[in-house]
Amino acid sequence: MKFAIRDDDTCYFTEPEDLARVYGDVWDRVPICLATVPFAIGYERVGIPREHWHSNRAWPLGDNFALKSALGSLIAADRVTVALHGYTHQDFPTGYEFQVAPDPERRVQDGRQYLRTLLNADVSVFVPPHNALSRRGLAAVAAAGLNILGSFLSFCPSMRPWDAKTARNWWRVRRFRASTGRTRSDRFVYPHVLRYERHAEFGCHSLIPGTVLDDLLTGFEEARRAGGDFCLATHYWEVSDAMKGVMMRLLDHASRYADVSFVAAEDLFAA
Ligand SMILES: [Zn+2]
Repeated sequence: MKFAIRDDDTCYFTEPEDLARVYGDVWDRVPICLATVPFAIGYERVGIPREHWHSNRAWPLGDNFALKSALGSLIAADRVTVALHGYTHQDFPTGYEFQVAPDPERRVQDGRQYLRTLLNADVSVFVPPHNALSRRGLAAVAAAGLNILGSFLSFCPSMRPWDAKTARNWWRVRRFRASTGRTRSDRFVYPHVLRYERHAEFGCHSLIPGTVLDDLLTGFEEARRAGGDFCLATHYWEVSDAMKGVMMRLLDHASRYADVSFVAAEDLFAA
């Protein structure tokens, strides 16, 4: 069984100490997949200075020299990997970036190329800002051959371009839902990689304020029983001492199983 951690929103506004505060005693146990924004445009959240919430100015990650340098060292030490997390992560008046941006194809291509060149890193995974993807956004990511970490399970044709593998995946998810006694409205995380023609998808378990350890343990054990894998997803900028405690107890729980391997999130997609 594989266990991975994804952390979202590393960008120009991130300081190396912000990441070290949360992961300094974690990334030697499990590498952290940093879902990274190449040209962040501010929006209302903790950690982005208020004057940039609505300035609509794009900030290149590489202009934060301390962060660029720290990421280089962390990547070289196999403590972190880098995924693409949108291009600007900006919130449009009509929706989130990969729901409504007019040019998702360009954003995927340019964003990936920028991070690859800046950080000399492989970038093979895409994490949608706010976990939101339109049909066109999904098609743009798939066309680039990037795998998706998220919680995107809609099979509605208005939300997803269908390919030769889609029907089979729909059946697999349906079978899992039925086997666990869930109805269509019950939330769950499907614990296996879903492979499509040009990309693959895997769902994560969220750690946000208010998440209780028992829910994550239940999800972990369910994935285990199903012969699946597990990925935790969080945001460094909102990890409190209580949330960090939940993360560490989950890690300790998973560590008790000899067959659990702690991997970079990219490795969840390995054949
Ligand atoms: Zn985000």
